[in-house]
Amino acid sequence: MLIIGSHVSFGAKEQLAGSVREAVSYGSNTFMFYTGAPQNTKRCKLSYDLTLEARNLLYDNNIELNNLVIHAPYIINLANNENKESYEFAISFLKEEIERASMLGVEIMVLHPGSYVRFDVETGIKNVINALNEIITKNQTVKICLETMAGKGTEICFKLEHLKRIIDGVNYKDKVKVCLDTCHLNDAGYDINRFDDYLDEFDKIIGIDKIACVHVNDSKNPIGSKKDRHENIGFGTIGFDALLKVIYNERLKNIPKILETPYVGNYDGDKNRIYPPYRFEIEMIRKKRFNPNLKDDIRNYYK
Ligand SMILES: [Zn+2]
Repeated sequence: MLIIGSHVSFGAKEQLAGSVREAVSYGSNTFMFYTGAPQNTKRCKLSYDLTLEARNLLYDNNIELNNLVIHAPYIINLANNENKESYEFAISFLKEEIERASMLGVEIMVLHPGSYVRFDVETGIKNVINALNEIITKNQTVKICLETMAGKGTEICFKLEHLKRIIDGVNYKDKVKVCLDTCHLNDAGYDINRFDDYLDEFDKIIGIDKIACVHVNDSKNPIGSKKDRHENIGFGTIGFDALLKVIYNERLKNIPKILETPYVGNYDGDKNRIYPPYRFEIEMIRKKRFNPNLKDDIRNYYK
């Protein structure tokens, strides 16, 4: 069965129960969320009652808890230790985030490996390894999934070899997994039209069993551009057919696929005038037929 969903919100008021409701409204059977705002580290206290309510909602809607994904905030940067204070803060925040994930029962946590800023790739990789060895404990159930990056600025992990070296350096290797992102792979220079070749290479270098999550996004930019700007499914440079080959790939059958595509509409500062595309993108993916009027359909549905 296809396991597909999108990024959804997690608000202080309804917490995970609200996230499940949003995911269900899109026809999803999985979803990903930040435990607060993605751009900051302010986090609310988790409510036991809301978590229980969420568990019941998951059960009622046939969503498996172990397919849910948490995304660590993207301001966390483990690759740069120039400022010791923020490096230490990132480490302690991630420890807490793992605690929160365990309380919610979520076992997949996606993490952007980070940017080396004024150092170099080597130092960046070493910093991530050191941090992960401080963060990861032997008995944790949460798996840290390092995301494949586009190589924007000084980002690391735009190459398989970077991921391989981080995993090799971590003490508890079974706690580290990988999250593929199709937009990032395209922008890093990997051809999604030849995705099976990529999987072969991944298997040879890292081992295909390390893939725990796939972010399915089209890209606004050409292959190798190192940009990282997501586009709606079928509207970018990767295209619908190539993305379907990823989504329905037999070797990734049991892995959750998460859409992080942009909201549709003309953003003018009013959040009420942009609309989530996920319900329509998921429908299109299930039908395996591209809908060229997708964006108009979304606007008409929500306005
Ligand atoms: Zn992603």
